Amino acid sequence: MARRPFIAGNWKMNMTAESGTKLIKELIPLVKDADCDVALCVPAILIPAMTEVAKGSNIAIGAENMHWEPKGAYTGEISADMLKEYGVKYVIIGHSERRQYFGETDETVNKRTKAVLAAGMTPITCIGETLEEREGGVTEKVLDRQLEIGLAGIEDITKVVIAYEPVWAIGTGRTATDEQAQETIAYIRKKIGQLFCPKCAEKVIIQYGGSMNAANCKGLMAQPDIDGGLIGSASLKADFAKIVNYNKYFED
Ligand code: PEP
Repeated sequence: MARRPFIAGNWKMNMTAESGTKLIKELIPLVKDADCDVALCVPAILIPAMTEVAKGSNIAIGAENMHWEPKGAYTGEISADMLKEYGVKYVIIGHSERRQYFGETDETVNKRTKAVLAAGMTPITCIGETLEEREGGVTEKVLDRQLEIGLAGIEDITKVVIAYEPVWAIGTGRTATDEQAQETIAYIRKKIGQLFCPKCAEKVIIQYGGSMNAANCKGLMAQPDIDGGLIGSASLKADFAKIVNYNKYFED
């Protein structure tokens, strides 16, 4: 069965209720016939307002993080029930910025990913190597570790979306080439096949993330193992519509 492409925006710590509302209203007519499933993962405080604006459209509103405990003394964190109350479907887990600045580890990524699944939502679990690791020739070793620990104990791997985001390509304007992204994502799929089962691996949606934009999305999306994208800066403007319409806007 063909995998349905899935492109999600990641607003990070950007936008306000006012600017977010304006952007989503602009996007709704532009993305209604998108070539893929579409989501915008937004700051937690914007979820109620953005959910309201996106209601009835094909834009799903997602979150950027979630705690693994259902409730308790975890100041600043957000729980599954809080997200589900607003119909959140997707949650980004283990973004490299969370790993780099907020002490996220493969172990906490594993706990969060499992908690999102247990709550009936879809985790977009991020993995990827740093520039130093790529240049040091240890990309596969790093990805192996992130997958082995981050996905340990998951019962149905087909319910997880993986975002392969080379850290050196995030927010730098330096995208992986189509070939680099394809080669690494094919490796990730093979590894998932070994860790779970080859048939399951064929069903797993694997996105590419890292300076993906309207100009380079078609080449990336044409790669056989790339099933979508996680889009940072290009999701903050109406150009995001061109990315999710990657086949229409760039027809030869
Ligand atoms: C991201 O934040 O996941 C990302 C890929 O950012 P950018 O598209 O800005 O590189």
